[in-house]
Amino acid sequence: MNTPVTPASGSPASFALASDPLPVAGFACAQGVLLVGGRPITELAEQFGTPFYAYDSALLDARVAQLRAALPPGVGLHYAMKANPMPALLRRMVGLVDGIDVASGGELQRALSAGARPQDISFAGPGKRAEELQQAVAAGVLVNVESPRELPLLAAAQDELARPARVALRVNPDFELKGSGMRMGGGAKPFGIDAEAVPAVLREVGRLGLRFEGFHLYAGSQNLRAASICEAQRLSYELALRLADHAPAPVRVLNLGGGFGVPYFSGEQPLDLAPIGQNLQALLERAAQEMPHAQLVLELGRYLVAEAGVYVARVLDRKLSRGQVFLVTDGGLHHHLAASGNFGQVVRRNYPVRIGTRMQATADEHELASVVGPLCTPLDLLADRMQLARAQEGDLVVVFQSGAYGASASPQDFLGHPRVAEVLV
Ligand SMILES: *Cc1c(COP(=O)(O)O)cnc(C)c1O
Repeated sequence: MNTPVTPASGSPASFALASDPLPVAGFACAQGVLLVGGRPITELAEQFGTPFYAYDSALLDARVAQLRAALPPGVGLHYAMKANPMPALLRRMVGLVDGIDVASGGELQRALSAGARPQDISFAGPGKRAEELQQAVAAGVLVNVESPRELPLLAAAQDELARPARVALRVNPDFELKGSGMRMGGGAKPFGIDAEAVPAVLREVGRLGLRFEGFHLYAGSQNLRAASICEAQRLSYELALRLADHAPAPVRVLNLGGGFGVPYFSGEQPLDLAPIGQNLQALLERAAQEMPHAQLVLELGRYLVAEAGVYVARVLDRKLSRGQVFLVTDGGLHHHLAASGNFGQVVRRNYPVRIGTRMQATADEHELASVVGPLCTPLDLLADRMQLARAQEGDLVVVFQSGAYGASASPQDFLGHPRVAEVLV
């Protein structure tokens, strides 16, 4: 049975259900109510209405600090803003990391508005429109070229604007990242240029007079196995080193991708950063000899922001159907597609969900319940038969690990319910 273990009121210690190996780390509670950034979620609910996402800025800071401590100095840390483009959060991240990776002209605009310097922005993504490439050259950001099609468009923009088109080639490697939630390299992929085609494309970069700066490799996402990430980094480095022989200029940026995962589900363990730090140290030492102009860069999305965010919805109805409890909330898949299991999961599993207004409920105050949203579809499920504190109408349900791929990755217009509020605390 679940035995809730909770800290003393207001203590900043983390808490977890004893039987649940997934800690809901970093958050505190007071009088049984979850705090985000020191503020009770009941107070945030009054101020912003429900449902809402709340992001804890101190946890963002702590995550980046912890990562910097584990990685060798000299490795650039970029934030892939598609994980969470909320303006206040993005501004915070701009102040914490070394660069922002954008994947559309819209994201580029937002990154610049958030104060990112053009020289610290890179722009990846397949199917860039001619106007987006022009926008990138005008702004002076680095374009991670995904297809030979982009080259003449960049050359035209360079001539027209009389500004250098800064390019790196995104390489689709000849290996895969093992154990990834989403594979984005290796085999046949719409992302990047197949490694074997890269030498010819590099010749074209030289012929067109584009400013070559380096390579970008991105093997996959949501990986919790440090050994797989280390292997992908090493193979990426070695592939880039081979391709560098064909480049028209020295490699200045070697973006080794990211893929660092966070534990979402029961039984998953946080990523062990120590071996990754050692691996990168070894690659830095090699690079100092073999690619002396190159800066090594990592680009991380969810790892930086997911654990700093919660999604909060209010219980509108408590229904019993043939012996099963359903907590019907004002939030659901239209705000949090990922928690409903419909954003890339193969098998639906429960995100860490708690009743955020009953954080100190004892074991005998728990029950088996499902949390659903107001949408008229069985897909609208936030928790499927979980042990939760017994909740009533008005209680607040909290979905943890919700700082990435939340509001912006959900179909907010589906069924016409209100949009979700977002707040950085
Ligand atoms: C999506 C994406 C990321 C971020 O992925 P996370 O799993 O959030 O870390 C980084 N780089 C590229 C190229 C991506 O497409």
